[in-house]
Amino acid sequence: MTDAEIERLRVTSRRLGSVTLGWHDCDFCGAFAGNGEYRYYLPDGEIFAAPMMILHYVEEHGYRPPGQLRAGLRAAGRLRWDWRAERLHAVLLDQSEDPDFRCQAAVDLANWDDPRALDALRRAAHDEDLVDVAGDEIGRSLAALVDRGLAGDLLTEDLPVMVRYGVDEASDR
Ligand SMILES: [Zn+2]
Repeated sequence: MTDAEIERLRVTSRRLGSVTLGWHDCDFCGAFAGNGEYRYYLPDGEIFAAPMMILHYVEEHGYRPPGQLRAGLRAAGRLRWDWRAERLHAVLLDQSEDPDFRCQAAVDLANWDDPRALDALRRAAHDEDLVDVAGDEIGRSLAALVDRGLAGDLLTEDLPVMVRYGVDEASDR
């Protein structure tokens, strides 16, 4: 991979999902522990998932991701709001959906720099049942949108403790 491709991968690896309790050491050097996976929403409609270790494998061990993912990352600019975003938006706000599924939607919606993603996350931040299981993830996604200039007044908002915890965690990095 070229430096530009690696940088592109780093930039698009922005929200870690499916974080599990286990940690995984690098198979090659054992020096790094990864947890969770990145999901890449490509402009052509494809979705790739890769373990968090992908950045380490690429940077330290010369791993080359599949050609379709590399091509998609090269083409990726700002994602257009599409059916995938609509689906995540609907899942996040549907109280009859599975909580884990809604949590995943809160993570993945941060891929879209779009007021509709921000609106859904803000509403989710005040859904008490969801905040119990996914408050920190909602906060991290809100922080990602703040980083990209989409939610300037967010930090003055009255957010539940768990959501604010996620915002602070993301901002500390
Ligand atoms: Zn390694």
